[in-house]
Formats: sequence, C-alpha cells, structure tokens
Amino acid sequence: MANQSEIQPRPIAIHWMRRDLRLQDNRALLAALSEGNPVQVVFIFDRMILDRLENTRDRRVAFIHQELTKIDIQLRSFGGRLLVGYGNPMDVWREWIKAFQSNHIDVQSIHIGRDYEPYAQTRDRELADFFESSGVAFKGVKDHVIFEKSEVTKDDGNPYTVFTPYSKKWRSLLRISDYVEAPSLGGLNTSTILPSTAIDWPEIPSLESMGFSWSSASIETFPERTISKEILRNYGEHRDIPSIKGTSRLSVHLRFGTISIREALRCGLEHSEKWTTELIWRDFYQMIIYHFPHSANESFRRVYDTIPWVNDEQHFNAWCEGKTGYPLVDAGMRELVQTGFMHNRVRMVVASFLCKHLLTDWRWGERFFAEHLMDFDLASNAGGWQWAAGSGCDAAPYFRVFNPTAQLTKFDKDFKYVRQWVPEYGTSDYPDPIVDHAFARIRAIETYKSALKPS
Ligand SMILES: Cc1cc2nc3c(=O)[nH]c(=O)nc-3n(C[C@H](O)[C@H](O)[C@H](O)COP(=O)(O)OP(=O)(O)OC[C@H]3O[C@@H](n4cnc5c(N)ncnc54)[C@H](O)[C@@H]3O)c2cc1C
Repeated sequence: MANQSEIQPRPIAIHWMRRDLRLQDNRALLAALSEGNPVQVVFIFDRMILDRLENTRDRRVAFIHQELTKIDIQLRSFGGRLLVGYGNPMDVWREWIKAFQSNHIDVQSIHIGRDYEPYAQTRDRELADFFESSGVAFKGVKDHVIFEKSEVTKDDGNPYTVFTPYSKKWRSLLRISDYVEAPSLGGLNTSTILPSTAIDWPEIPSLESMGFSWSSASIETFPERTISKEILRNYGEHRDIPSIKGTSRLSVHLRFGTISIREALRCGLEHSEKWTTELIWRDFYQMIIYHFPHSANESFRRVYDTIPWVNDEQHFNAWCEGKTGYPLVDAGMRELVQTGFMHNRVRMVVASFLCKHLLTDWRWGERFFAEHLMDFDLASNAGGWQWAAGSGCDAAPYFRVFNPTAQLTKFDKDFKYVRQWVPEYGTSDYPDPIVDHAFARIRAIETYKSALKPS
C-alpha cells in the first residue's frame, strides 16, 4: 500500500464562476475543460460586496443563490458538485488551495471570465500575484461581452467615447466566431468533472448563514430566462411603452450570466436590429468602465463635478418614495422599489428629473438604483446616470431637460402604467408637484450654464 507521501497528486482545472452563472455556452468553463484534466466549478459569495448590502432581503443574493443551487444539481448529475465559498476571495482561495493540496489534488489552473469593473480588476490582479506564487496558472477569457477592452477602437487606437461611431465599428468587426456557441455542456460528463467524493466540502451556505433571507413565494418575481422572439420582433414599436411587456427583461440574466451574451446576440441578429443595438450599448459601457474607471463615481467629463447641486434631502426622499407629484416619475420609483425593475424609458425620466428638476447629484440616484435594481451593473448604471446628468460620454446635452408631463402624455397616454403603480393618482391623496416644471427647467439650465462656462 502506498504511503501518504507517495500518492501522486491528481491534476485538475478550476472554473471560477463570477458573472457567468451557467454551464451552457460558457467560455471560461470550456477553457478549463480543454486542458483535459477533471474540472471543479466554484463560486465565492464575496463578503467585500455582500457586507455593503443593507437590505437583508436583497433580491440579487437570493437570485444568485437560486441559480447556484440549479447549477449544483446539474453538476451532481455528472457525479460532481459545485463548491461555494463565503468570505473575502483572497482568504477563501488560500484556504481552498491548502485543502486541495492536503487531499492530494493539484490545482493546475483557474479559469475565469474577465470582469471589467474597477473592484474586480484590482481583486483579480491581487489574486493573480497570489496564484503565481502558489504555482497555479490564473487564466482569463472574454465571456461577458462580445468585444472587450481595446478590441473596438478608433483608427488611432484610442477608445471611442461616442456611441454611434463605436457601434458602427463594432458591427463592422463582428464575425460569426464572436458569437458562436461554446459547446461546454456537451463536454461535461462523469470523466471530465471532479467527482464529489474527491474531497469533503461543506454544502452551499444557506442565505440565512450569510445574514440574508428570502421567501420562496417571492422567487416568482425573478424574470424568465427565455428570449421571446415575439417581443424582439415588435421591439422597435413597443420598447418605449412602459405599460406593456415590450422589452426582453433579460437584464438580470445578462448581468449575472445566467444567459450568454452570445445567445442573446444570435437572437438579436435574427429578429431585431434595434434590440441588437441595445446589446452594443452594454458592450460600450463595459468598455468605458474599463478604460475610464473614474467614471464609476466621478463625472466622466470632470468639469461637471463643479455643478453646485442643491441636494435637498426632503426632495430626494420624495423621489425615492415615488411622491414627487409627477405621476410617471412616481410610478417608476414605486415599480423599482417593489419589483427591483424599472422600464428603460422611465429610468431616463426619473434620472433626468432627479438631476435636473431637483438639482441632485447624480451619484445619489445612482446609489439608490444600485441598492434596488435586480440588474444593477456598475458600468451601465453609471453610464445611464451620467447620460441623464449630462456629465457622461455621449450624454444628453445639459440644456435638454425632459418634461415629465410631456413624457407621460407620449408614452403612457391612457395612464395604464401610472394607475398600476400609483393607485391614488387622481384622488386627493396624491401629492401636488414638489417643484414647478417651468421654474425647475430654467434653474437647471442656468445652474449648469454658469458652472460649465469657461473661466
Ligand atoms: C439611469 C439608468 C440606469 C440604468 N442602470 C442599468 C443597470 O444598472 N443595469 C443594466 O443592465 N441596465 C441599466 N440601464 C439600461 C436599461 O435601462 C436596462 O438595461 C433595461 O431597461 C433592462 O430592461 P430589458 O432587459 O427589458 O432591456 P431590453 O430593452 O430588452 O434590452 C436588452 C438588453 O440590452 C442591454 N441594454 C439595454 N439598454 C441598455 C443601455 N441603455 N445601456 C446598457 N445596456 C443596455 C441590457 O443588458 C438589456 O437587458 C440603465 C439606464 C438608465 C437610463
């Protein structure tokens, strides 16, 4: 019988899931499988992120937990299982690498889909140093977007900061190989997955053990994962009407990678040019955050940081609670708080209202959205908010101030959306407008103008 020191360590590859919570069409998983050793799939509930969430019933944590449970079931059908950690990723990895070693498992490589947010970039750089010193190859692939980093640049090699030329170049560079399916699920079987018996790992931590909770009934509020061809075909006509389901509601799935961007793009190319353009916006903002990480919490155009915001807390609270007296704004804010979703047209209206009508720093609104949106994504959220504030790349000009009443007449003329979320609208319980539109519009334009004038 071989003694402990003679046991040959078993080489494996790891796929660390982050924004790619799926086993289908997953390029990082495919890269791990292609090494020819058994693969272990892992996920970490990152305390650096979770500890900042104030709501213990945060929908996103419940959603991730639910998706991980499904993936674990799929992996168990191949004799493996999903390994889930909870903590600071560096601590978790230190512990895991030790545990693998002591179980005679040689982790040769860790495969990730790249993440372009500033926090993730720093975390992954630090981990890359640690893995290097531990003799483990740490390999990133592009999975979350169609084009990343500097793949779509101006002719001089600089990143685009305006969307239309970016999207033209994006389309001109697109090849079938950019969106074909990665055949990962076919590659998973009892011989390509590390058997669950190889090491005695704890079960997936419960939501409660991490300080969160969720009732199973509420899980129904998570949008479906399917792409409706019907919606895509009518997208151009219906996309701006918040009372109908005219948009895909796929944002949470694209955010957490429960659907692959390539699958989405294949449908877009087949059924809707306009919808494909929205997917390009998503790539655009991921590219912007990568090249201009300051835009996550400072104005993309720095001069906009000189705007003397009024930041009236009472007004801000009225906006958060959907009690501004502007029905479309109020309906949107109530939809957000109650469901974790808000229609894109309404996001533009409420964001513009906060920045321009209430002269409130866009970061206040951005943080509120970050707390409540199921699909919260730093790049798209900061991009959307800076667009509304006028401070971002390719933003609405500062003198364009949405009229929330005109927007209501145009996009919800029968008040269907408003009545759904603001049942007291039209009764004496509904508040008067907290600011007068004409006054607020002029105040915003004057304030912006004097802050932005060259000194
Ligand atoms: C102030 C503001 C904040 C926003 N915050 C976010 C956010 O945190 N996360 C987020 O995913 N989107 C954000 N958006 C963009 C957009 O509102 C949502 O992506 C969209 O409403 C999601 O609904 P859907 O899935 O039905 O979209 P669809 O209209 O069906 O579009 C399909 C997909 O394209 C992408 N997309 C669509 N519009 C945009 C856009 N303008 N920018 C980037 N990607 C887009 C999304 O992934 C979306 O799921 C924000 C927009 C604004 C104005």
